Amino acid sequence: MRFASLGSGSRGNALLVEAGNTRVLIDAGFGPREMTRRLARLNLTGEDVDAVLVTHEHADHVGGVFACARRFGWTVLLTHGTLFACRPDRAHERTRIIDSHEAFSVGDLGIQPFPVPHDAREPVQFVMTDGAGRIGVLTDAGHVTPHMVAMLDGCDALVLECNHDAQMLAQGSYPPALKRRVGGPWGHLDNAAAASLLGQLDVLRLRHVIAAHLSEQNNSPMLARAALSAALGCTPDWIGIATQSEGFGWRDSGA
Ligand SMILES: [Zn+2]
Ligand SMILES: [Zn+2]
Repeated sequence: MRFASLGSGSRGNALLVEAGNTRVLIDAGFGPREMTRRLARLNLTGEDVDAVLVTHEHADHVGGVFACARRFGWTVLLTHGTLFACRPDRAHERTRIIDSHEAFSVGDLGIQPFPVPHDAREPVQFVMTDGAGRIGVLTDAGHVTPHMVAMLDGCDALVLECNHDAQMLAQGSYPPALKRRVGGPWGHLDNAAAASLLGQLDVLRLRHVIAAHLSEQNNSPMLARAALSAALGCTPDWIGIATQSEGFGWRDSGA
């Protein structure tokens, strides 16, 4: 099983996971043209993707989902709340409703959704498995719940939200209401919260940690790396960064 990001951040998200002959995207925050351009960096086309899992209805996650699904023939999997928040009339014959607690499979990939606290209707995140490895993905969560810790325990790879540095957010130029939303319990994880989550997990099998959904205004790769590496006791440059423009290239969950 391997995974790559096409881009990560408040201007668009898409994470690709591949096992055997199956390729699934988590979120599609880019329209068909931009999606095609970003997939081409991995030598793939839209038709090489089988399905898209949608975490929640915010535009940076769902913005390209329905247009890409129609264009490329993707199955769309999302919770009832997410579908209705993004208008049910956009559903098509390949739209499937998932339960936020119930595992399902797409081809060779097993997928365990789990609910997260975020200011959306029914947001979820996912743990993906090919039967051998586990990739845990978490973005867009305002705080860490015991259930999230249980779900992300014992993964081989983690893609973890490091949205902001609390001090940079407090001193930055966002209006007060936006600062409260982003830093609040239904907003986004800061570097310290992501590091604290990492410190609660069984990391014996962990081979990859990638900081994701970094704010371009209120964070820096250096600060995210410093927080996560301190929690693991590893060198900062071992922590990967998913960037807005590039995402990151293929990583093999077993290597
Ligand atoms: Zn987001
Ligand atoms: Zn969001």
